[in-house]
Amino acid sequence: MAKVASLEGIEKRRAKIAKLHEQIDEDYRNLPFVCDECGHTNVVKDTVITVRHWYTSPHGCTGGDYWNAYDKGQFTCNQCRMRYDISLKTVPARYFKQRVDVFDK
Ligand SMILES: [Zn+2]
Repeated sequence: MAKVASLEGIEKRRAKIAKLHEQIDEDYRNLPFVCDECGHTNVVKDTVITVRHWYTSPHGCTGGDYWNAYDKGQFTCNQCRMRYDISLKTVPARYFKQRVDVFDK
């Protein structure tokens, strides 16, 4: 037989889910990347991510005239400055120390 829901039970589950989301956010921020070049361990929350964009020119009556973001970003090793590509689907840009947007026209 199905359990009868209660507002208190729903709120408790919401609180659990919110706590899990906070833990996941913290895990992303503390995610380490070991540099292949120098062996330094970079942590997402201490690393700057660069996101490049490309422009779609106006075309037709209403098309174009907008910027598109690549789904890959690039971060630099804090020790030796080696650059690495990373999928922003794997680690969203919001978890990095800073996001720098570069617009190539
Ligand atoms: Zn390095």
